[in-house]
Amino acid sequence: MKVVEIKAKSILNKSSIGDYCINVYVGCQHACKYCYASYYTERIYEIKEPWGSFVLIKVNAPQLLVKEIVKKKKGVVYLSSLSDPYQPIEAKYKLTRKILEVLLRYKWPVIIQTKSTLLLRDLDLLKRFDEIEVGFTLITLDEKKRKEFEPGASPVEARIEALKRLKKEGIKTFAFLGPIIPFTEFSEVEKLIEKLSFVDKIYIDKLRYKPGLENRLPLQWFNANNYYMKLKKKFKNKATFVY
Ligand code: SF4
Repeated sequence: MKVVEIKAKSILNKSSIGDYCINVYVGCQHACKYCYASYYTERIYEIKEPWGSFVLIKVNAPQLLVKEIVKKKKGVVYLSSLSDPYQPIEAKYKLTRKILEVLLRYKWPVIIQTKSTLLLRDLDLLKRFDEIEVGFTLITLDEKKRKEFEPGASPVEARIEALKRLKKEGIKTFAFLGPIIPFTEFSEVEKLIEKLSFVDKIYIDKLRYKPGLENRLPLQWFNANNYYMKLKKKFKNKATFVY
């Protein structure tokens, strides 16, 4: 794993989810096969290493946020759009935790989405936010499939247990079922929805194509519009579709 410390120029960026997003890491050790963040990361940072084999660490992120937060209009901050805020390296650098400390101090609302139970380390902070939503991404209940598609992320059951814990602590929770891998049996999706019925909101997303993904997944999977239309029709009353 290639780990490089860098100094970022800015940290609080405009976002389509919430008002702002913060990415303290560039690259993601979770190495999800379907991840299209790799496309943007390779273009912005001109990185050639395989996705999942590198992380750039924005070591000055908390200090930058302290400077930027006082200059910007208060809004919802999404963690994170192009990397997982709780990927394994966070255990060492604690940058996500330091970012949360700043956001909490200024009482900014937060949405966190992750595939890692390392998030529970920061439960003490999460509980102190007035406005917060925390979600886990889950695409399957099958641990073998999870290992194939999300090799670096937490096991399925551990994520579900973490969601239960958050819910018990009174935190607003969501499950992001995306991308549903094309041609997954509807009965499997149904089981996933049922298992997660205790969360506050369930989202479903489809597989999205970006150049380069054809090297990791079968090309015909990106032509599954019919499948996704049927999926939406079948579960429109049980989940919010984001496509
Ligand atoms: S956790 Fe998210 S950012 Fe990280 S590899 Fe998976 S899809 Fe990409």
